[in-house]
Amino acid sequence: MTSPVILLRHSRFAEHLLEEPCEDIPARYRCIEEALWRSELMNSLPTAELRPATEEELSLVHSPGYISRIKEQSKQAEEEGKPVQIYYDTFVDATTFEIASLAARAGLVAMDNMLGGEAFQNAFVAARPPGHHATTDRGLGYCYFNNIALAAQYARAKYGLKKVAILDWDVHHGNGTEEIFYEDPDILFVSIHEQWLFPEETGWYLDNGRGAGRGFNINIPILPGTGDSGYLKILEEIVEPIFESFEPQLILISAGFDAHKYDPLGHQNLSVSGYVAMLRRLLALNQRIGPGNGLGVFLEGGYSQRALAQGTLACLKVLGDLEENRPDNGVSTNLSSNRNDQALNNRLDLVKSFHSHWWSSLR
Ligand SMILES: [Zn+2]
Repeated sequence: MTSPVILLRHSRFAEHLLEEPCEDIPARYRCIEEALWRSELMNSLPTAELRPATEEELSLVHSPGYISRIKEQSKQAEEEGKPVQIYYDTFVDATTFEIASLAARAGLVAMDNMLGGEAFQNAFVAARPPGHHATTDRGLGYCYFNNIALAAQYARAKYGLKKVAILDWDVHHGNGTEEIFYEDPDILFVSIHEQWLFPEETGWYLDNGRGAGRGFNINIPILPGTGDSGYLKILEEIVEPIFESFEPQLILISAGFDAHKYDPLGHQNLSVSGYVAMLRRLLALNQRIGPGNGLGVFLEGGYSQRALAQGTLACLKVLGDLEENRPDNGVSTNLSSNRNDQALNNRLDLVKSFHSHWWSSLR
């Protein structure tokens, strides 16, 4: 009997950067663990033992020089008794190498549990630090090792998957994942993000891959105030037609919760009902593409602790088929609307028109 979801978590994820030199504070993880305990999901959801990823596993997407550098910087932080700054917003402390390797390994264990023996249909990787800003050889945006990119590469290397699709709905552009797979036609990367947020220099809709990878990188930069209805429109009009044409064997999601209306960094006005509606649509899409295919959801950003905890809990319930009071039609009535339909429509027309050259399903 296939179980619906496995939760990958570890109490060490709340022990990174205890000195709190940036927005990625340990309370971001503690609030999730507290919500899991309160809901009793902590005891009822299946989980797995974790160890840190090996340097060989990290080298699936990161350069050996970069891996050694993070390891050395962690030692340096321990010796000096203070974090080492590696980017204007990103710090390495004495625990970084170990805990970021543990976060990376959580994604690989998720793949083993979904693809090896297929004990679990879906996985939720509740790891911290996040990963989607980390490139092959650079840590930034509170990210060190790219958890979701490592999982995608591992799924291909170990289980022989040919095509993987990654949707990044974090409010910031997934520049690291983009860079890692920019020339790769077998990993489709789609990022929905707020224009002009971090990292400001990447994420424009014209950046669509290089060489053989041209067409397989889709950026959807949006203006503030998109709301639940706007995000669902983006899924319906762009993400779903492209994913159905691509026919991935596995869909992974970079799930930040910083597009939520309470988030202090994003301005997208999403609600928890909106995240739930998006995830339900993606589960249905996944079953249309390949009945039995699993969905791997990876925690990324989110700076309102309330939104982060409620969003994580709600997504776990959707993945585990544990929702109470699910509406018959699967669509919540509590969805927020877009503040500027015309601006969103204009943007989506621009994105669709450009990408329709590679994707006939957008025409
Ligand atoms: Zn983010």
